[in-house]
Order: sequence, then structure tokens, then C-alpha cells
Amino acid sequence: MNNSQNELDPTVQTSDLERTYRLGNQIIHAVNGVNLDIYPGEFVTLQGRSGSGKTTLLNLVAGLESPSSGRVVFQGNDFSKLSESALTEIRRTKIGFVFQSFGLLPLLSAYENVELPLRLAGVNRKEREAQTREYLEMVGLTGRSHHRPYELSGGEQQRVAIARAIVHNPPLVLADEPTGELDSDTANVIFSLLRDIAGEQNIAVLATTHDPTLLSMATRTLEMSDGKFSELT
Ligand code: ADP
Ligand code: MG
Repeated sequence: MNNSQNELDPTVQTSDLERTYRLGNQIIHAVNGVNLDIYPGEFVTLQGRSGSGKTTLLNLVAGLESPSSGRVVFQGNDFSKLSESALTEIRRTKIGFVFQSFGLLPLLSAYENVELPLRLAGVNRKEREAQTREYLEMVGLTGRSHHRPYELSGGEQQRVAIARAIVHNPPLVLADEPTGELDSDTANVIFSLLRDIAGEQNIAVLATTHDPTLLSMATRTLEMSDGKFSELT
């Protein structure tokens, strides 16, 4: 696998990406010819109506779905040329995910949730502890480390999820409606937190959102409709 990454190379690149679904005798062009380059440190937001193809695009970029045509190249690696296990390895070590409904494990504490990706990556105990503490502090949750998700507010849970998404230092974070379940003040705080941390660490972010007030925080905003997008800014 090619792991060398030049600052000038895109973290991820899609070319003529298409994904169709067959529903009965109807064909749905969920993603219909998307060309997108995202560079290190960029914070790209993707807006568009429900059903416009945002989640499908994120899943393709994550290698969770295979394109019907076109390709996804991640740090120089063409997904279609990788084995399933190589793809899984990229997802586990190089991509962080943030979901609308937080996706935390309910029986684990905030600390254990953040630590999990490091365990999966085989990081040793001492380093795990240092990293987990550092990231919990970064998201302002040091005092809540030992709480379980149900003891935390939505905003706090999403902070945990952000820490978990980036604790293993991935070059790419994919966030699907990360503020969809938060009130607008909390949404603003969470979105800026993600943007600031990603910016400091030179992480590329692709985040979908419905909330127009969050779009101004992006370095680039894309709008999707019927599986295609037009660049707004
Ligand atoms: P968004 O995230 O913007 O709401 P999606 O990517 O979820 O949009 O969906 C885009 C289109 O693809 C929609 O018409 C949706 O119904 C369809 N779609 C998504 N996933 C599937 C699937 N697994 N099977 C059939 N149709 C799907
Ligand atoms: Mg969606």
C-alpha cells in the first residue's frame, strides 16, 4: 500500500463517481457523477435535501459501499484495487467517523469509548492512556471521563464521539449530520470544535449538514441535489 502523502496531494479523490440502486423496476442514481478532491486540513461541508445522496457519497468515500462506476482514491490508493481486509484496515486506522446519533457504546465510559480505536489499532497501554486523556481534554470532557453515554448530554456525547473519531490521528474524518440531534447553540459549539481540532491537526473533514448557519464555518461548501453537486463558494 502506498502510504506516502505529500501535503499537496489530496487526501481523498473521487472521479466520475456513480452509485445506482435498483428499487423494483426503478433505478435510483443516488450518486451521479461526483468529482471531488479533499486536501489535508480542508473542512468541506455538504448540504442538500434529504435523499440527495449525501450519505451514499460518504459511504463510498469510506469504502463502505462500492461505486457502480468511477473511483475513489485514498492517499493514492485506488479502493477498487484493495482487498477487503486492506480496506477495513484503512477504515480502522485512517478514517474517523462521526454520526448523527453519536454511535457510542452504551456500556463503556466516555474514556473507554475514546480509547477503543487505540485498542483496535494495537497501541500499547501507556500510549493509549496518554492519548485518551489528551483527546478528552481537547474536547473539554476530562471531568466526565468515567460517565457512561446515558449520563451525558447530547452535546457531551458528541464531544466524546469527536474525540473517538480523531484519537488515532486519522487523515480523514467523515461526519454525517453530526449536529442533527443537537439544539442550534450546541450544534454551533460542536461544529466549531470539530473544525478547530481538524484544522490544528491538518485533518481533512467531509461533513454533511442541514443547518445553513454551520456552512459559514467551512473552508468549502458543496451542495448536492439528485446525486450531483455544485460548488457554492
Ligand atoms: P441523503 O443522505 O442526502 O438523505 P442518501 O444518500 O441516503 O441521501 O439517499 C440517496 C438516494 O438513494 C435516496 O433516493 C435513497 O432513497 C436512495 N438509497 C440510499 N440507500 C439505498 C439503498 N440501500 N437501497 C435503495 N435505495 C437507496
Ligand atoms: Mg443522509
